[in-house]
Amino acid sequence: MLARTGTAPTRNYVGRFAPTPSGPLHFGSLVAAMASWLDARNAAGTWLVRIEDLDTPRNVPGAAEDILRSLLAFGMEADGEIVWQSRRLAFYDEALATLALASLTFFCTCTRKEIADSQLPGAKSALIYPGTCRTRPGQDQGALRIAVPAGEICFVDRCHGRQCQDLAIDVGDFVLRRADGIITYQLAVVVDDAAQGITHVVRGADLIDSTPRQIFLQRALGLATPDYLHVPVVVNGRGEKLSKQTGAVALDSEDAIALLARAACHLRLGTIKAATLAGFWREALLRYSDLEPAALVSHPAPCPSITS
Ligand SMILES: [Zn+2]
Repeated sequence: MLARTGTAPTRNYVGRFAPTPSGPLHFGSLVAAMASWLDARNAAGTWLVRIEDLDTPRNVPGAAEDILRSLLAFGMEADGEIVWQSRRLAFYDEALATLALASLTFFCTCTRKEIADSQLPGAKSALIYPGTCRTRPGQDQGALRIAVPAGEICFVDRCHGRQCQDLAIDVGDFVLRRADGIITYQLAVVVDDAAQGITHVVRGADLIDSTPRQIFLQRALGLATPDYLHVPVVVNGRGEKLSKQTGAVALDSEDAIALLARAACHLRLGTIKAATLAGFWREALLRYSDLEPAALVSHPAPCPSITS
């Protein structure tokens, strides 16, 4: 139950929205932002924004500022300073040093083709690293991977229930720092969630498969594991997750209330008619407080389709 009417929070709630500045805010990211904002406000918590701008070749100049402006125009203001991952490189290096001290990381120079050639028959479509370089001594360049343990890592998602993954079987030793020096999403998100004191992660269901990797890293680094809620992602007419790559269009903040109402529909909040931004958010919050997280997946919303 998300509703806590009249009850005090059992612990401080700190949530976040963490967009990648590869383009302007689009409808899919608006839904994710709304979900995290409503969940934080419903818990009388703090809502933070973090710009995940480490994959520099994919950053679009001005996109981060554009996203921040859009969030404000849609009535979502961060409660603290905006965190930029590109300014936090020293902290990721520190985490890598901790993992290296525990002998968990190793350098890997395998090509994509070598990894593909070593796939076992019946392996899932994603390439699973077979651990080739784990025991290759003396390597000091290439991608930095972490050796994953055998056995399941499980967590309880507030929407999807208990989720388990055996990293050794489903993922393999994954990359923490690419050969070009770029820190990967998995490591940065774990370091930053801890640094920002995030207690509740609310994000798109496309990231549910990443969660066991992040929990493994949290444990390896001695960090707390937040609560997780993965909300349905918005798909386009071809069933693809809406993103810049699949043709999502930038949102016009002139249409803020109408776009917010559509986003609310995708979060199963029904039809909200409001004349002002403040009125919209009041009503959305009221409805969200009555929502069971499981309802986020159990009733397909009859929403207008958002296609490009
Ligand atoms: Zn390798």
